[in-house]
Amino acid sequence: MFSRPTAPPPEPLCLETALKQYFGYETFRPGQQAIIEAALENRDLLVVMPTGGGKSLCFQLPALLRSGITLVVSPLIALMQDQVDALQANDLAATFLNSSLSGSESRQRQAQILRGEIKLVYVAPERLLTPTFLAFLDQVQAQVGLCALAIDEAHCVSEWGHDFRPEYRRLAELRQRYPHLPLMALTATATERVRQDIGQQLGLQQPYIHIASFNRPNLYYEVRPKHRQAYPELVQMLRQTQGSSIIYCLSRREVEDLSARLQQDGLRALPYHAGMSDGDRSRNQTQFIRDDVQIMVATIAFGMGINKSDVRLVVHYNLPRNLEGYYQEAGRAGRDGEPATCLLYHSPKDLRTLDWLIAQKVHPETGEPLAHEQRVARQQLRQILDYAEGTVCRRTIQLAYFGEAFAGNCANCDNCAQPKPLEDWTVEAQKFLSCVARCRERFGMNHIIEVLRGSKSQKVLGKGHDKLSTYGIGRDRTADQWRLLGRTLLHQRWLDETTDGYPVLKLNAASWNILRGQQSVQVSVLSTPAAIDKGSDKRVSAANQAEAEALFQRLRSLRKRLADEQSLPPYIVFADSSLRQMAQQQPQTLADFAQISGVGRRKLEQYGDAFVAEICNYCQAQKE
Ligand code: ADP
Ligand code: ZN
Repeated sequence: MFSRPTAPPPEPLCLETALKQYFGYETFRPGQQAIIEAALENRDLLVVMPTGGGKSLCFQLPALLRSGITLVVSPLIALMQDQVDALQANDLAATFLNSSLSGSESRQRQAQILRGEIKLVYVAPERLLTPTFLAFLDQVQAQVGLCALAIDEAHCVSEWGHDFRPEYRRLAELRQRYPHLPLMALTATATERVRQDIGQQLGLQQPYIHIASFNRPNLYYEVRPKHRQAYPELVQMLRQTQGSSIIYCLSRREVEDLSARLQQDGLRALPYHAGMSDGDRSRNQTQFIRDDVQIMVATIAFGMGINKSDVRLVVHYNLPRNLEGYYQEAGRAGRDGEPATCLLYHSPKDLRTLDWLIAQKVHPETGEPLAHEQRVARQQLRQILDYAEGTVCRRTIQLAYFGEAFAGNCANCDNCAQPKPLEDWTVEAQKFLSCVARCRERFGMNHIIEVLRGSKSQKVLGKGHDKLSTYGIGRDRTADQWRLLGRTLLHQRWLDETTDGYPVLKLNAASWNILRGQQSVQVSVLSTPAAIDKGSDKRVSAANQAEAEALFQRLRSLRKRLADEQSLPPYIVFADSSLRQMAQQQPQTLADFAQISGVGRRKLEQYGDAFVAEICNYCQAQKE
């Protein structure tokens, strides 16, 4: 008897192969692979990653690998559109259903879904929970199967988040209707409170939790004083920036003024704020997204739902209201992982304006000041001031705010790139901390400093703090110097501060190490803002760089042309990082071109010839 040769068992699909084939990427970003594996085991997920971390891929790749449909809940039409555009550009079967579609378009898409031609369906939460849509979902479940529910921007479920959407709460109802359906919750919101809320409100069951670091290593953080030279400096900065810039201002008027002034100075800039008509706003936004105009001057109304991944510079021309807002807004730079700059201008005038605005927070009916809200807002303002005036690594300050310890010396912020001289202030730190202890950890920084400097203020005398052994032991330093030390201790987490609106200093385990003399304290003194020359040590092979730059510009033009032909944003065709790699490696065959990160199966077919031809032309011309 002959035994028929058995066919080799199908090869288990390697996740990295799928990543390259579908998305064109060579390797996973940190965390992605483990998250995807958990998703493929049908586990619930809670994924917290900063903007640009690559959250979408965590539900998109599993969706493509599983049978059945993955529903994606997303709060904003623009976001859905953008993600679906990006998926379709890779020839991946995704669609969205929302109010921007006509009845017949919706029906057509629903039919496609029921025929099993789609893997990912994006939908707004309001629509998802309507009886008609639920009936449609039952049909989907019966005919093609539902395999997962991904909830993007999951912080919307929490009142403690910055964008609460009541409909998000009701998503838990889907749990009852489809008990087998795994839930994947994704957000970039960093606070612990919101994370807990997400788990509870959505009823996640023993979820696989991934909380990424909020460090964005590709962003260069810098703070400059807003003196008279600020405007010419800004113009110069904008001229030097290769790619798109966003400039945030505090008020509509400042947006209008600054954009007009930039235009007069020959820079193409557009305004964006809530006082403009919907039509004007969306026209300006589209021009920005399509790279027709590269500078957007805006209030913070701009940015939510803007997925543009190749923003190279975000300037805050006014002091922001709080550090979380600053982190999120500045974080719109460099989502593609390429170097980008976040610049903040700091001026006493803005501080006064913000302080005034806080004083305006009153009860709408009684006109009574809203004491609690004012207190919280003042504390938040103080934290952003600490950031702006801080002399330690900017990342350390930002990440400490999110409860993350960061060692400092990031080499990619102004304070690290141009460190201020360090002095050993261990003895001062011991004085400061023991004063906190003597005051029984019940007072804020100003009071501690008054005691140290031997103040005769009513509060100090009234509490009997002039009797403390630490009273007056710090007269040799100015109040500003003590404040600098206090902030440094907080930023480096050698001291804690309560965050309920009454900032009270508390000792922690690290404080005791200092008090016991087991740890020294270095303080960077003297804050002299100077011009930045980031690249001075990187002047290697300048000629090569210049050549790559010239080719990069040509590839950008080609990308723009191809994008316009299809009415797509250029970054959907290829990310800046892909173009940079092309400019450096100069692939002159399709096989070499396929190795570029971001070139998947579809984009190779669609754009390979055009880009390879452009690169060959360029290399040819160089030789002649
Ligand atoms: P988030 O939703 O977390 O802000 P996205 O999912 O939009 O981030 O991803 C940000 C950018 O990073 C996108 O341009 C995306 O295509 C890209 N990206 C995601 N994963 C990878 C990867 N493994 N390799 C290279 N680029 C990636
Ligand atoms: Zn740093």
